[in-house]
Amino acid sequence: MKKSILTLSIAGALVFSASPLASPAAQAVGNGPGYGGNETINTSILHTYEEMVSYLKTQEAKQKDLELEVIGQSVKGRDLYLAKYIKNPDNPTILFLTQQHGNEQLTTEGALEFIKHLGTGKMKGVTDNVNILIVPMLNADGAMGDVNFSLDDYIASGGRNLTRYNANEIDLNRDHIDKIQPETQALHSNVMQKYDIDYMIDLHHQGANSERDGELVSGSILYPTTPNADPEVVQKSKQLGAVVFDAVDSTGWGHLGKYVGGSAETISRNGIAVEYGISTLLFEMRGMSDHYREDYVLGQKSNGYLIKQTIVTLDSTVRAIADGSIETKDVSFWDTLSEQTTRMTE
Ligand SMILES: [Zn+2]
Repeated sequence: MKKSILTLSIAGALVFSASPLASPAAQAVGNGPGYGGNETINTSILHTYEEMVSYLKTQEAKQKDLELEVIGQSVKGRDLYLAKYIKNPDNPTILFLTQQHGNEQLTTEGALEFIKHLGTGKMKGVTDNVNILIVPMLNADGAMGDVNFSLDDYIASGGRNLTRYNANEIDLNRDHIDKIQPETQALHSNVMQKYDIDYMIDLHHQGANSERDGELVSGSILYPTTPNADPEVVQKSKQLGAVVFDAVDSTGWGHLGKYVGGSAETISRNGIAVEYGISTLLFEMRGMSDHYREDYVLGQKSNGYLIKQTIVTLDSTVRAIADGSIETKDVSFWDTLSEQTTRMTE
């Protein structure tokens, strides 16, 4: 394993139990370390695509409830994977989607750690009552910087650059109506249309300088905002957000704002809610793994809590669906949750 730094930070920070929120390494996310031009952005600690595939296959061999499926190929021919836990097709199903944008990788790191977590005895009773689908690294070419355009002005070091766009320089999260790109086609044809999905969390990273109530956020969340979404789907989306908000907020280090997002249905949060009646939540975590803008990336000192934030999100929502508590979750916090704003930087 060459992922010593990442492994160490995860091992140091994570405590899994019935309550996954116990005693995190108390790092004040709100004023946590930023990039600032003097902290390393080293992509070598992130899983490469090949390392991710190897990791998934190792877990599949260890876990009898885990099945991998190849749902299609990227522009450059990389197999795109779906990790499935389906014990009973009649159970409610949640999909976690990571890295539509290739430079937003800590959500994938968290999803991989969560997959390992699902193989432990602690989750046994949970997966009896909920089906879990995970699509990690949808934009594998962008994540590997294997694209048909230049990344010369990107900031990160470490052997590879990561970019938002796919190899054709298209934003996959604007392709959910036309579905022209092979990655988007794979997701829709072989996941959205093939499985009976109730909930989806689309995991992203945003810039590093968003704040709520004067404090930098660890992330921001939003439900479908297109007027064409069924009100019941939106209500359940808000309940999904309530589960995430309570779980992250109660960690002590998590600080979430309301994301400011549009109503376009080319975006998965809106389009998938309308097309399939799936309740969706967008989660934008703080700071990207690489970018050409310095105010968008975040130094690797922040990796630990952002990976952990992903795991807390996946763990809490899976549990709330499994025990049915999500269905009575109060959504009134949305009425008072402030929209995030951007902190002015020099
Ligand atoms: Zn994104």
